[in-house]
Amino acid sequence: MEVICKFCNSKHVDVLRKIQSPYSEEKYTLYECRNCKQRFFRMDESENSSDILKKLYDSQAEKNKNVYGLEFTPSKYWKNEVKEITELHLGKIHSICDIGCRTGDFLMHWPNRVERVGVELSEYASGVAQQRGIHVVRDFVENASFDHPFDVVSCYALLEHLEQPKLVLDTFSRICSQGGVLVILVPAFDTWKQHKIWKNENERWHMYSPPEHLNFYTKEWLVEYLSADFELLHYKYTTGGMVNLFRGIPLLSRIGGRLMWMWDVTRFTNQKPVFDHLYLYFRRK
Ligand SMILES: [Zn+2]
Repeated sequence: MEVICKFCNSKHVDVLRKIQSPYSEEKYTLYECRNCKQRFFRMDESENSSDILKKLYDSQAEKNKNVYGLEFTPSKYWKNEVKEITELHLGKIHSICDIGCRTGDFLMHWPNRVERVGVELSEYASGVAQQRGIHVVRDFVENASFDHPFDVVSCYALLEHLEQPKLVLDTFSRICSQGGVLVILVPAFDTWKQHKIWKNENERWHMYSPPEHLNFYTKEWLVEYLSADFELLHYKYTTGGMVNLFRGIPLLSRIGGRLMWMWDVTRFTNQKPVFDHLYLYFRRK
């Protein structure tokens, strides 16, 4: 069967390696497009993909029921995001739309005077967000209609999950107001961390988790694809709070956590493609 690149429709697609799904016995082929350099898995490689995902998301919702109550704990990562976006936006921020808002944790970090809207498919997560006072649209964002565009549009950790990523990428310019800020977070494979893990065939980069994660982007492609309507303002590669070399060792763990935090928030270090969480900040033209 001929595989066509889901990003640029090129027929020149290379097979890189079979990757073991962490959620089933199956392996999925990891492809890389020779033309646009993006990587992807195909949902339809296994007829079980949809069932696997349903089970996965049901079990995550079940786990979240124990973790997420209605009370909300501020996190320094989200606080830093609010600061970063506020500094990049030239005007006053009146409204924000978070696509894939989960339980509304990020939106809760914005003051009440900002109109906060979330888009979320999960019944459980959107229910929590709603009870927290967030207005939630329970639909695919490409189907959602809003009566006005937003000063800030955010899309954290969503684009890697989509069967047809362009449907969502193409909604950004409709939802984001002129001069508004768009933020995207994706796993980044063109980084020291992924390349280091790739060298050992027996190891699996945790982001290569088909059929949960299907798409892997480069910064260059996203910037180019969005360039008709958006200009890049800033980017950073962070640990996502996931890396601590000294985890579990009391005092060292605290020092390690602090060092990683410094790495993540310092512009000199976080602009190097070392760690695998890529944040891109754009301004709508
Ligand atoms: Zn391509």
